[in-house]
Amino acid sequence: MICLKSPEEIEKLRLANQIVVSVMKTMKGLIKPGVTTAELDRIAEEIILKEGAKPAFKGYRGFQHALCVSVNEEVVHGIPGKRKLQEGDIVSIDCGVLREGFYGDHAWTFSVGTVSEKAEKILKAGEQSLHLGIEKMRVGNRLFDVSAAVQEYVEAEGYSVVRDFVGHGIGKELHEEPQLPNFGTKGSGLRLKAGLVLAIEPMVNEGNFEVEVLRDGWTVVTKDRSLSVHFEHSVAVTESGPDILSQW
Ligand code: MG
Ligand code: MG
Repeated sequence: MICLKSPEEIEKLRLANQIVVSVMKTMKGLIKPGVTTAELDRIAEEIILKEGAKPAFKGYRGFQHALCVSVNEEVVHGIPGKRKLQEGDIVSIDCGVLREGFYGDHAWTFSVGTVSEKAEKILKAGEQSLHLGIEKMRVGNRLFDVSAAVQEYVEAEGYSVVRDFVGHGIGKELHEEPQLPNFGTKGSGLRLKAGLVLAIEPMVNEGNFEVEVLRDGWTVVTKDRSLSVHFEHSVAVTESGPDILSQW
């Protein structure tokens, strides 16, 4: 069942997402060679709790952290721990919060110090693919217009989009209907209506789209161990166009 949101509910979703934004801004400042991924997680949780919200990922199917922190060939769902970030790494931070019954969900991939040219290039492509997808989130368009915009751009840049993980509706649940793949056929899928709120989250691999889950049961990596980036915004479809609730 797809649950359209009222303007009041969209404002509540914005408030939840803005807590995630404040976490991300802090993370951006902290991401430097030598910082551990556990330290980032600890500080993120502190911020969320201070705002009177709850870390949405903590306790989700047994996950024990506020953040997913995924480095280099890790695609999503990396577990914070003792690993120290190193100069030249790229690190994806994914954060969700629950505030007064509504969820926020937003992710970004950052560079650690100076990164290689190939890392710079895939970071730019991942971010651009997110914006091209968001641009299609307009009343009257179809769901897979969004997916196709992401896929076409990513593949034209010589990268691939992950198939096994997708974006999703978001609201009073972290993951609601519909699923939003980052691949699909233009002109198909449900028609977008005002009040639909989606977390759109392209995962872009440097090599093949295939991924696998490590033995920790969470960390998703590229099968060929090529780099991967992840960019996510929670976005409302409105009569006046896409409204990015996790806008900085
Ligand atoms: Mg997320
Ligand atoms: Mg998400």
